[in-house]
Amino acid sequence: MLRKAIRRKLQNYRVKLNEPDASLPFFLKERKTVAVIGGGIAGISAACNLSERGFDVQIFEKEHYVGGKVGSWQFESNGEQLRTEHGFHGFFRQYYNLRNFLKKIDAYKHLIPIDDYTIIFDKDKKQGFKGLDKTPVLNVLDLRKFGIVTWKTFINPLGMPFLNLLKFDFESTYKKFDAESFASFANRTMMNPKMRLVFNSFSRAFFAEPEDMSLAELIKSFHFYFLSNEDGLVYDVLDSDFQNSFISYCEDFLKNHDACINYSTPVTKLEKTAQGFNVNEQHFDYCVLCTDVKHTKKLMSASQGFETYAEILSKLTALKHSGRYAVLRLWTNRFESDPTLPFFIFTDRLKCLDSVTLYHKMEKESVDWSKEHDGGIFELHSYSVPKDLVTDEEVKTHLLREFYHYFPEMEGMKTCHEYFQHKDDFPAFHTNQYASRPEVKTGVPGFYLAGDWVKMDNCSMLMEAAYTSGAIAANYIMQAEGLRENQLESVPIKGIFA
Ligand SMILES: Cc1cc2nc3c(=O)[nH]c(=O)nc-3n(C[C@H](O)[C@H](O)[C@H](O)COP(=O)(O)OP(=O)(O)OC[C@H]3O[C@@H](n4cnc5c(N)ncnc54)[C@H](O)[C@@H]3O)c2cc1C
Repeated sequence: MLRKAIRRKLQNYRVKLNEPDASLPFFLKERKTVAVIGGGIAGISAACNLSERGFDVQIFEKEHYVGGKVGSWQFESNGEQLRTEHGFHGFFRQYYNLRNFLKKIDAYKHLIPIDDYTIIFDKDKKQGFKGLDKTPVLNVLDLRKFGIVTWKTFINPLGMPFLNLLKFDFESTYKKFDAESFASFANRTMMNPKMRLVFNSFSRAFFAEPEDMSLAELIKSFHFYFLSNEDGLVYDVLDSDFQNSFISYCEDFLKNHDACINYSTPVTKLEKTAQGFNVNEQHFDYCVLCTDVKHTKKLMSASQGFETYAEILSKLTALKHSGRYAVLRLWTNRFESDPTLPFFIFTDRLKCLDSVTLYHKMEKESVDWSKEHDGGIFELHSYSVPKDLVTDEEVKTHLLREFYHYFPEMEGMKTCHEYFQHKDDFPAFHTNQYASRPEVKTGVPGFYLAGDWVKMDNCSMLMEAAYTSGAIAANYIMQAEGLRENQLESVPIKGIFA
């Protein structure tokens, strides 16, 4: 009965974000042009949704591949042609809109489940989440069996603030907690080490140090990933590299709907005119800006014709991006000794290393390479590189040192190939950012924003936020042209006790 009541209160774990009017037409009758700037998931989403309806869409992408942070590209190393990506990605079950899209383009069949959400700590101890009760709230109580919470957590007056974690509500959560960091909350509530370990890894998954991570964003993420649905921390991964299992399907869909992808074409000039937009010397009726925060800020600082829209312009040019993150992929001549490890493991970082991915167990091309060369492919992530590690060499040295701490059997391995990325183009989900975060609808006629950094009134995050914001931008344009919108969904917008 309790499970049923929770399910009822949380609206069956799925809410509709809009009510498309079925009496409106599906296809556009007259020609309308749309410039989509940036070909990450957000840009792909806007472009696919609009080209399907007959809009004349052009994507402008600065790189020679599309996909953005889920892009994949080839490189040469020691005479071999290899492929790499920005890094491991988990497709959570509550990514309703992105997963519907994967079904539509026929890429869904490439998703395979991961065994467990695992964190390793104290050198060789493992914290998994398998077997947890699936019902929200009962899953939190169930964390007792791992020592993450105890009855005292909720009874102790110092622990009372933990109840706020169960009460996500846009208005009150951001008002009360956007100015406080997760680290400050953990200190003031004397959070136990196990619980801190779990939330620290959550916070780093948003590329933020616990000292910088907005507590409100963390509460939202806990709601989205754990407390608003029965899927919990279970997720899937792609069984093959991102180009073969995801991006090529998007490209085919776009080609089949006559959209044009301009590869290696950065937009250097965006101009608002009386009739629409000039993008790299071409005129468009609509523009959807889907660049990452860092490049959005740069592009909008150099844009023209937006002077009368001072508020949105100042929000866009003041956007904050993350600190540095690093991804080191290694093709080696050895394997890890524990055969029970899942494809992806969070580590309790010593200084730098946040996660390790075992590609030789996961992606088809990596499995093939591994069999042929009798070695493993490992990817080491630091989601937030400490300030005192500056050069590539320093970061790599530390990543490897910590990798050997958790995987001592790898010490002395031969590295056949490596690919290293050291970047800072992720959104900052830091304290005090929410109020000034721009929304999909900008107030500039015909100009919309999409990306994982754009503020929405639903709880989606990361890849799901990128896809959903692109689809919302497309819906606004369909609405403006009198077309039927696409149906979008989300987990419930309010927490169970909100
Ligand atoms: C290492 C790593 C691991 C991650 N793991 C996960 C995960 O497990 N689960 C999850 O859900 N999310 C994960 N994410 C986050 C996820 O990748 C992003 O949230 C999502 O892909 C963002 O998509 P986007 O379209 O908003 O932005 P982006 O992917 O950043 O796309 C922006 C695009 O704009 C292009 N661009 C920029 N400037 C210009 C310009 N001037 N002209 C033309 N083009 C331009 C860029 O080249 C890029 O293609 C991870 C990210 C990283 C880096």
